Amino acid sequence: MIHNKRPVTHNTNVKIVDAPEGHQGEGFMAMQLSKVVGMARKNSIWPLPFATSCCGIEFMATMGSTYDLARFGSERLAFTPRQCDLLMVMGTISKKMAPVLRQVYIQMAEPRWVIAVGACASSGGIFDTYSVLQGIDEVIPVDVYVPGCPPRPEAIIDGIMRIQELVETESVRRRSSDEYQQLLTSYGIK
Ligand code: SF4
Repeated sequence: MIHNKRPVTHNTNVKIVDAPEGHQGEGFMAMQLSKVVGMARKNSIWPLPFATSCCGIEFMATMGSTYDLARFGSERLAFTPRQCDLLMVMGTISKKMAPVLRQVYIQMAEPRWVIAVGACASSGGIFDTYSVLQGIDEVIPVDVYVPGCPPRPEAIIDGIMRIQELVETESVRRRSSDEYQQLLTSYGIK
């Protein structure tokens, strides 16, 4: 049983330090910008659910009142890639659908993160056939994999919390780094 009272997302590594001279008193505070940005992003992740089959049903349970993803600031789902920063891929992805998934990823604004929920999205699952993509990381970069067929809502929440850790600690400059650009280039994405 999960209780709705626990403010999971209130944990933060933001520390307020002494303000510089001339900028002290009411209305002033000093802290590291990247940590504040990380905290804000971490607690306001907007998912785009790309659900094609059974794992999507588990995600619906994750959004329901018992598990309540709203506790993590992630209750605002959207199917508009430009408004979302977390692509959640849940279900079997056929090779015909792979270009559509890739297009959705490309349309998302930076910074963006990706979770592969369940065996099918992560590796093709039991569908080792000519028509099924053997893991979405063949066409887009993935940040977190959630195992299971299907994963229970607790596992999906665990995946969201892993993403929150990445989001909170990511440098604000990572997206313009050479490493990140090379990662995108390796997928043929500019
Ligand atoms: S991993 Fe299992 S539950 Fe999830 S979409 Fe594939 S077959 Fe369905």
